[in-house]
Amino acid sequence: MNAPTEHPRWCDRKTCDRLGVHASRVLPVNTGRTEETVLDVALVQSWLPASEPQLSMTVIDGVDFEQVLMSLGQGRVLAHRLRQLLDDAKGGAK
Ligand SMILES: [Zn+2]
Repeated sequence: MNAPTEHPRWCDRKTCDRLGVHASRVLPVNTGRTEETVLDVALVQSWLPASEPQLSMTVIDGVDFEQVLMSLGQGRVLAHRLRQLLDDAKGGAK
């Protein structure tokens, strides 16, 4: 597939050219502490016409890694659910 002539505003052209999909800069989920897993998130979108942006979450656990793609709608619900769980976690013992 030929590279597109137009790119989403969030597209990082170097990554886009390298991967063959529109891709944003990668945002690390970094707490500043040593964690069991390394997470990062980014936006990706196929070069196919009429494709929609998706959220990419990459989980690196030692030598294993997994990429999960989700729709923006799922990402919004996930953000809400995470806030709910984080609020629950503040509650302490019952
Ligand atoms: Zn692009």
